[in-house]
Amino acid sequence: MQRYPHWIDGKSHPPVDGAWLDVHAPATGEVIAQVAAGTATDVDAAMQAAQRAFPMWSSLPNSQRAQWLERLADALEERLEEAAQAESRDGGKPISLARDVEIPRAIANLRFFAHAATQFASESHHGEAGLNFTLRQPLGVVATISPWNLPLYLFTWKIAPALAAGNCVVAKPSEVTPHSATLLAEIAASIGFPPGVFNLVHGAGPAVGEAMVTHAQVKAISFTGSTAVGKRIASLAAPLLKKVSLELGGKNPSLVFADSDWHDNLDTIVRSAFQNSGQICLCGSRLLVERSIYDEFRDAFVARVQALRVGDPADPATQLGPLVSQAHFDKVMRALATARAEGAHVLCGGDAIDRAGWYIAPTVLEGLGPDSATNREEIFGPVVTLQPFDGDDHALALANASDYGLVATLWDRDLPRALRFARELRTGMVWVNTWLMRDLRTPFGGSNQSGLGREGGAEAMRFFTEAKNVGIKT
Ligand code: NAD
Repeated sequence: MQRYPHWIDGKSHPPVDGAWLDVHAPATGEVIAQVAAGTATDVDAAMQAAQRAFPMWSSLPNSQRAQWLERLADALEERLEEAAQAESRDGGKPISLARDVEIPRAIANLRFFAHAATQFASESHHGEAGLNFTLRQPLGVVATISPWNLPLYLFTWKIAPALAAGNCVVAKPSEVTPHSATLLAEIAASIGFPPGVFNLVHGAGPAVGEAMVTHAQVKAISFTGSTAVGKRIASLAAPLLKKVSLELGGKNPSLVFADSDWHDNLDTIVRSAFQNSGQICLCGSRLLVERSIYDEFRDAFVARVQALRVGDPADPATQLGPLVSQAHFDKVMRALATARAEGAHVLCGGDAIDRAGWYIAPTVLEGLGPDSATNREEIFGPVVTLQPFDGDDHALALANASDYGLVATLWDRDLPRALRFARELRTGMVWVNTWLMRDLRTPFGGSNQSGLGREGGAEAMRFFTEAKNVGIKT
């Protein structure tokens, strides 16, 4: 059976305690591999390695750090197919999605922040009291903790800016999908990436993640995952005065106005709800539809959802795979039971699919108001609700009826209205007539229960550096 060890100081490193966790294939439920069940001792070994590497890495010219990130990107690109297969196997992700979208985006993250290393500039202030300029210095050792839903994509989204800014990293991928990050660590070692600069520690969140967050050497924690774990991390980091960036859950509204080109965009609207079986923090799980088109839209939408090809993630024709784990499958099934108990009308799906693996049929629900648990709690599965709205104020009230605030999507042709909504929606991001539009320079993140801080571009470079002002009398 394949085993995924830690990678510390440029070498593979079996768990000190000799304990391993099973890794399952969501498409069958079978155990396909084992991953190191790390402990605080493994974390400490990684921290020491990172600390030793920091003086060398932080003093390299930016252009040399950029070259290392480019080399890592090149080497990953050569093994793109292997990484895509890895994620399709342990995450149940359709191979086409992994191969065509997500692994290429992981590579793009590395390249983007290679460029950022050479482009990042700091401020100077003059004309008031002498000359002030800001040094933006790397923090030291930083910890990154990432989830299973976009494994390498979100893993690189964190380590790339941290490394570009001159920090050394101890990174923890999800124990549910450990394969692709292990492959990246192995690739890094194979190209001679400086040992200790990028270390990988596997294991369960409480055992490894908390040991990372509270480790004396860690200066900052960049976390993506659930709101509950984000709060736990914040509570551990606050008394230690460590910097945190938290990218958390969502319950995103998608608004469809009667005058929009919704017919032409129906495939994208369906994708925005169901890509990766709805297991993307940016998926729109609350579809708000103007009442004058509600019936027509609902029928067309449901027909398109019923036509989605659900199946084996290894099949290039598959559009929707299984859910990632037994625990997550159970959580989504519980949410469907709650929806029924709340009086939801199931327009399609609503149940598990009778086959091996953790499959749930793509589900569309209607008949629930904004205060229902179904419309307030994150489900993170192939489940979307429909609600009609009457007029702009009602649409806005429904969209903002959430404790979360990650992203909202508008399907609309009325520019003044789109601009008003962009201002008044309580989310970190708004997309108009598009979904998951990526420009890596833009601030990425959510408000309220969806997180704290922003990633992306200069925001990420600022997070991973300490600003030091130098004032000179002139
Ligand atoms: P999770 O919070 O259970 O786990 C995320 C990571 O945190 C994993 O590596 C896990 O091992 C670790 N972890 C768990 N408990 C921990 C603890 N006590 N201390 C430190 N680390 C701990 O989330 P998940 O189930 O892997 O991912 C799904 C969630 O992630 C959803 O809520 C989704 O919305 C969110 N998400 C958010 C974004 C975003 O950008 N806002 C992106 C993707 C996913």
